[in-house]
Amino acid sequence: VKISKSYKLASRDFHPDNTVIKIGGVEIGGDQLVVMGGPCAVESPEQIDEIARLVKASGAQVLRGGAFKPRTGPYSFQGVGVEGLVMMAEAGQKHGLLTITEVMTPEYVDVCAEYADILQVGTRNMQNFDLLRKLGTIQKPVLLKRGFSSTYDEFLNAAEYILAGGNPNVMLCERGIRTFETYTRNTLDLSAIPALQTLSHLPVISDPSHGTGRRELVEPMSKASVAAGANGLIVEMHTDPDNSMTGDGVQSLFPEQFAQLMLDLEKLAPIC
Ligand code: PEP
Ligand code: MN
Repeated sequence: VKISKSYKLASRDFHPDNTVIKIGGVEIGGDQLVVMGGPCAVESPEQIDEIARLVKASGAQVLRGGAFKPRTGPYSFQGVGVEGLVMMAEAGQKHGLLTITEVMTPEYVDVCAEYADILQVGTRNMQNFDLLRKLGTIQKPVLLKRGFSSTYDEFLNAAEYILAGGNPNVMLCERGIRTFETYTRNTLDLSAIPALQTLSHLPVISDPSHGTGRRELVEPMSKASVAAGANGLIVEMHTDPDNSMTGDGVQSLFPEQFAQLMLDLEKLAPIC
């Protein structure tokens, strides 16, 4: 096999079998669909506890929520920080959910890894090479989001940094790219799902929330992602989206919509 790519460990040429990441009883990259649901940001113990209850009741396996938020402007709400990690860990444990949260700097990798089951690298940090190198030194699973202007080659090279450091537990996340279209916040690149699965053995997760930025598009693009072969979804859901502390309320599903989405998805793919 001719390997002409600059990445190696991330390549399917190098590693023909699919990577399956096992966390507790959940397998990511196997036969079953993994759904991660929750708010953009952790806001309070009550908020994350109630959302965790609803995520679990709907049948999803992972609770999402940011304690550290990468905001475009410095005066916007930046997340509740380490306290949010504690709130989310408690909610996850109470309701029997795994947790995923974003880590933005190498200094916070250890504390985030202490409280969360999966660490998320945001689109703005896909090429934060110091962060990627640090994530290579631990074994916690990492969900690496595609930079909103990155090619598949750049994306897979970013994953390579983590793999090369010694952490094999990497999943890729398509979360939309910047195009000329302004109706949607980003353009969810559905082709990325099968293309990345051809180029790489790593699981591919789709984020239709940031990929569209519009609540009414989350359900159809979730289904489209599963039809395209996604191994999982990460979806924003909020009990009071109009009053959420980040601007992402407009793309957050109401709990009833999230529950209905889960019922619809069960018809398309087995969910563990
Ligand atoms: C998020 O998941 O809330 C987030 C900030 O995502 P992204 O990095 O894809 O914008
Ligand atoms: Mn968000």
